[in-house]
Amino acid sequence: MQYTVLGRTGLEVSRLGFGCMRLPMKSDTQIDRGLAIPMLHRAVELGITYFDTAVGYCAGDSQRVLGEAMESMRDRVVLSTKNHHYDKTDKDGWWRNLNDSLERLRTDHIDVYNFHGMNYERFEAAVDGEDGLYREVLKAKEQGMVRHICHSFHGSLDSLKKCVETGLFESVTVQYNLLDQSLEEGIAFAAEHGMGVVIMGPVGGGRLGYPTGKAQEIAGEVKSTPELALRFVLSNPAVNVALSGMSTMEQLEENVETVANLGELTPEDHRRIEAAVEERKKLAGLYCTGCNYCMPCPDNVDIPANFEILNLDRVFGLSDHARTRYATLGGKAALCRQCGKCVELCPQELDIPARLGEAVSLLDERSGSVAGWGELTGGSAAADGMLSLRLRYHVKNFTESTFSRVRVSLRSHREEQIAPAEFDFSTLKGFGRRHRDITVTTTPPMESLSVDSVVTFDDSHTIEHLSYAVVTASKRAGGKSNDSLLERPASPLVHVPSAIHPVHLSKQGPSAHSYDFALDYDDGSLYLWVEVEDDMKFLAETAPTGRIRADYFRVFFDGRAKDRLGLGGYGDGVFHVTVCPPADSGIDAWVVVSNGEEVSARTERTPFGYILGCAIPWSAFGGDNGAREVMAFDAVLVSHDADGNEQVRLSWTGREQQERDTSTFGRLVLI
Ligand code: SF4
Ligand code: SF4
Repeated sequence: MQYTVLGRTGLEVSRLGFGCMRLPMKSDTQIDRGLAIPMLHRAVELGITYFDTAVGYCAGDSQRVLGEAMESMRDRVVLSTKNHHYDKTDKDGWWRNLNDSLERLRTDHIDVYNFHGMNYERFEAAVDGEDGLYREVLKAKEQGMVRHICHSFHGSLDSLKKCVETGLFESVTVQYNLLDQSLEEGIAFAAEHGMGVVIMGPVGGGRLGYPTGKAQEIAGEVKSTPELALRFVLSNPAVNVALSGMSTMEQLEENVETVANLGELTPEDHRRIEAAVEERKKLAGLYCTGCNYCMPCPDNVDIPANFEILNLDRVFGLSDHARTRYATLGGKAALCRQCGKCVELCPQELDIPARLGEAVSLLDERSGSVAGWGELTGGSAAADGMLSLRLRYHVKNFTESTFSRVRVSLRSHREEQIAPAEFDFSTLKGFGRRHRDITVTTTPPMESLSVDSVVTFDDSHTIEHLSYAVVTASKRAGGKSNDSLLERPASPLVHVPSAIHPVHLSKQGPSAHSYDFALDYDDGSLYLWVEVEDDMKFLAETAPTGRIRADYFRVFFDGRAKDRLGLGGYGDGVFHVTVCPPADSGIDAWVVVSNGEEVSARTERTPFGYILGCAIPWSAFGGDNGAREVMAFDAVLVSHDADGNEQVRLSWTGREQQERDTSTFGRLVLI
């Protein structure tokens, strides 16, 4: 192993760091300790001394496992973790994160404590100044809870340099790899200013870890692309530590061997790599420089991000990885309606719409089909008691063909009036998208609304299975208090019937089982009830250790601004709420939102099961200035057997295994 001094922290650390964000998982929420802990111990044995984690890694379990593994060898390792709290009006929240991290890591101090994902805008808004969070971290340092004040970074080169110039941070953790060298100058700048430099994603977030012929060509003499990727990063003299998010013992041993035998890449190696990367981009006809001149797209297509992903496939041959990245991308190429407005803005003169069509063909799982879907865009209640819901109905062509006539007819499950119930689009271009705004009216009490649509194109092909559901939530008249959590509204304005059928239940024997949701809100919180029939006890005889027990619900809320609903994965504005039902142990239900915040929860036994209730403060939905008239909403029930193995996974909308795709969420209108 090679060692280095981490800038002005003065800490001596191994050049290979262990990134604890991809530890092997036993389930969605639990790391497989039987695999992970021996791996972490082996890492120490092999000389790794730098371990990096964060509150949310591995569904919140990473800090715990690292703490369990390192408790007996704390003085041999440097622990780095992060605080993602940027609300300076809520200093308690920042301290809660720190104290929780110390507890989970089973230590009384954190060596490298990072502001998580900082950039200069965040620094100015929340960290700097008399009332900023830097004051808090200084206090923590004075109390010995934190040894070195650092930050991780996501942002532009200019922003990184400004952060360095503040002189307030001892090291920075930043993205840099063979495929993304955009911050190289900033890394050198940080090192010149005495900061330690830690690289995350040295193997391109795993993508250079895939064996691929094209990447291997670039690797040349080097044994494997992961080896080349690590050598590339560590041969940069400004870099102290390369973090690798290792998931297997094999990766660990291979990476340690690479760093132990680290030979510097020669200038000739560097030239060859750069020339090969540039050449391939040109050959692929997709030389997008990421300049952003074409942005913003009126339809929210993230053009450069789509091209970066397309390049992973076309230039580097990383097809599987490209498809995985595309699946969680906000602003997918599929949103493009081929209007052509971006074309004249591109200095590289790329035929952007055509290339986006190519991205759809190669990367979008719906490629080759035509789709239609409704999106709830708003709602209102009229004085005469009529409720009116506004829907935007989209049709999208995932093929190259142009259709001359596309007809859509809508049918409600419950006889609500829909106007218009049928409409046409005269043409639908290859890869094009069209939409029509329609209004659905009904009389209260409004319950959920389910709509089937039939799309016929060119009077020949018909797709009939397009069905979607929308729900409304009512505003509570009074204020909120924990005691009122379980007061169901007199007339439940939201009551989403369960789509679960007993036949879906586990092999251990079906039973009468269903769940309903109810939602309402006031100015402070969103209130959620889940009413479960059947206590699922047959699946929960022995609860696994930790707080998540055998059965739980996950409810997903997309709380971003209306025009961004449904874009991207859970990383940006989508919160999952985990609701665990009560058990005979007397432990009450508990609820955690995905930013780690615990919220108040109550349970009530009923003759048939129980009701869970919780109030989720709007602050939990993040800082995206979401105008919360409309939210996206989805729910999944997960049941585990006594050994903690997942047995049943039921989705409200029946989209098993697809819950990472927020574009398929149902919509919720707050009336
Ligand atoms: S052609 Fe597509 S990507 Fe370009 S502006 Fe129009 S919708 Fe956006
Ligand atoms: S303008 Fe052209 S080169 Fe620049 S980001 Fe858009 S597509 Fe890429």
